[in-house]
Amino acid sequence: MKDSILVINCGSSSLKFAILANAGQTTLVEGIADRLGSAGSSITFKYEGQKSEIPLTDGSHKNAVSQIKEWLKSHTEIESSLVGIGHRVIHGGETFSESVLIDQNVIDGIEKCAKFAPLHNPAHLKGIEVAFELFPGIPQVAVFDTAFHQTLEPEQYLYPIPMKLYREHHFRKYGFHGTSYRYISQQLAKTVPSSDEQGVLVAHLGNGASVCAINKGKSSDTSMGITPLEGLMMGTRSGSLDPGLISFIRQAEGISAQEALDILNKESGLLGISELSNDCRTLEEAMEKGDEKALLALNMFAARAAKHLASVATTLESIDHLVFTGGIGENSSYLRQVICQHLKALNINIDSTLNTEAPRGESSNITAVHSNTNVWIIPTNEELMIALDTINLIQD
Ligand code: AMP
Repeated sequence: MKDSILVINCGSSSLKFAILANAGQTTLVEGIADRLGSAGSSITFKYEGQKSEIPLTDGSHKNAVSQIKEWLKSHTEIESSLVGIGHRVIHGGETFSESVLIDQNVIDGIEKCAKFAPLHNPAHLKGIEVAFELFPGIPQVAVFDTAFHQTLEPEQYLYPIPMKLYREHHFRKYGFHGTSYRYISQQLAKTVPSSDEQGVLVAHLGNGASVCAINKGKSSDTSMGITPLEGLMMGTRSGSLDPGLISFIRQAEGISAQEALDILNKESGLLGISELSNDCRTLEEAMEKGDEKALLALNMFAARAAKHLASVATTLESIDHLVFTGGIGENSSYLRQVICQHLKALNINIDSTLNTEAPRGESSNITAVHSNTNVWIIPTNEELMIALDTINLIQD
């Protein structure tokens, strides 16, 4: 075993991790520490098919990383192969257009972008600080969700609001899920090398959901904005709507702007419409039993996904490929079918048997014979992308 990379995805109350070896191809161990900052937090390790859970004494991020270090002490072969640590960072603003080795300048840059991701970036910084403290001498890399979209043209990334707000405050579309889109673009190019010179649409549909147009290997438009609230309807997020609605909600409910935004971020989307769940699988089960609100929620999700795909496609010269990824994109044949039905006018068609019989966890082509566009399912792997970036940067 050589060149293991610890991948850390630090949230405000959780820390997901994985150790990947053999150029990212083997996941040796993975796990999650959750309920950080509150009583009863613990960290779970999944190793060689076995799960083990260790309670965290003070529930801090440091406590969680200390437990990873302790675990490594009892798995010395993995410990001695550890060469780098890769961190997922949500917001890199206009400062970061690619992954970087972390030094004090990078830490300052991530801090500067924290105003756009006040829950996430400070948590990432905590993870970075603790990792430097507990793994001295091991190089660390930051991989940004926004970086892939730094290739957008101004007519796509600017909001049509006074320019002064962009000049003085950098208010613009940044886009997210960039690590996933970059991975999908590379995976597709492995199967179809010419895709690097073509127009590709990707629908990353998970609990958070967005779409991206990739023109000749570069992001040309995406649906999320300055925050991950813009664009598609999601698990609990509303996606795009008339901003005037915020003041109506405030007045009607007697709440603050932040509370109204919380409704749009946490109580809307699939959950808000179905009044049942934000989880697609739960809603599909309910729909099969005749639950009409679950059906409506799923169909609204599909209609909006299709609308945003058509919208970002305006930045492409041709729509040569459409890729579905993310928990929903990879697994829900129902939503793939409804989304593609909405895209018929663009001559995007899938084969219903290939769609319903697509193997789980593998890439597959579900294109109908008469379709203008190739339609694919490609499982995403953001951890692998982070590990590969880390390997590349520490070898430079
Ligand atoms: P992610 O955020 O990418 O992990 O995706 C989570 C979403 O994928 C949840 O809404 C899950 O219900 C959905 N999902 C996972 N597996 C399935 C499945 N077999 N069928 C439908 N939806 C699924």
